[in-house]
Amino acid sequence: EGQQPVYKRILLKLSGEALAGNQGFGIDPQVISGIAGEIREVLGLGVEVAVVIGGGNIFRGMAAAAGGMDRAGADYMGMLATIMNSLALQDALEQVGVVTRVQTAIEMREVAEPYIRRRAIRHLEKGRVVIFGGGTGNPFFTTDTAASLRAMEIGADVILKATKVDGVYSADPCQDKSAVKYDRLTYLDVLQKGLKVMDATATSLCMDNDLPIVVFQLSRPGNIQKVVLGEGIGTIVK
Ligand code: UDP
Repeated sequence: EGQQPVYKRILLKLSGEALAGNQGFGIDPQVISGIAGEIREVLGLGVEVAVVIGGGNIFRGMAAAAGGMDRAGADYMGMLATIMNSLALQDALEQVGVVTRVQTAIEMREVAEPYIRRRAIRHLEKGRVVIFGGGTGNPFFTTDTAASLRAMEIGADVILKATKVDGVYSADPCQDKSAVKYDRLTYLDVLQKGLKVMDATATSLCMDNDLPIVVFQLSRPGNIQKVVLGEGIGTIVK
C-alpha cells in the first residue's frame, strides 16, 4: 500500500535444503510452491528477480569426496543437482503464472538456455524470472560464489541470502542461548569473525564490488517482500 521497493533488481540465493522442507532431502512440493508464490508477490512490486539455487538437498561434492570420490567429478554431480532444483522452481513458478527462464552454466540445450549474460538481463527487463543453474560451472566453487558472480554480472542491487534463522548471530542461536543477532555487519566482520554468511570466496567478491548481502529467514511467509520493501529484517552485510 504505497510502499516502494528499495531494490530494483535482486538476486535471491536459495540453498538446496530450503526446498527440502522437513524431509531434509529432495524437493517438497508445498515448500517450493510457497517460495514461488513469494517470488510472484515481489515481482508484483515491479522488482526484477534472478535466482541461484544450491544443490545440497540432492548432492554435495565435498561430502562425496569425503567418502572417497574424486572431488572434481563429485562437484560436477553437485552442479547437476542445482540444475534439477532450478527446473523444479521453474515448474513451480509457471504453475503460479510467472514466466521463467532457466540458464545453465553447463550447456544443456535441450533442457534450458545456456548462460548468456545479455540475454539474462533482457529477460529480467521483460519481467521474467531468471534462474541460474549449474553454479559457476566450475568444481571447487559453491553456489554462494555463483550467486555473487551472477549478481555482479547482471548488475543486481543486492543478494538476498535465504537461511533457516532470522539473520546472522554471534554464535549458533540453536545451540548457544547467549548468541546475539547482528543488524548490520561489514564484509570484514564476516571474514575476520568467520561468521557463517557466505563462504570467504563469495564474501570477498561482494566486498570488492560493494554488493550488499541481506541474510534473512525464508520460512516466514512474506519475508522476501519485507526485505525488498526495506523493512529492516535480517542482517545486512555491506
Ligand atoms: N558446485 C560446484 N561449483 C559451483 C557450485 C556448486 O562444484 O560453482 C557443486 C558442489 O559440489 C556443491 C554442490 O554443487 O557441493 C551444491 O552446491 P552448494 O553446496 O553450494 O549448495 P547449497 O549448500 O546452497 O544447497
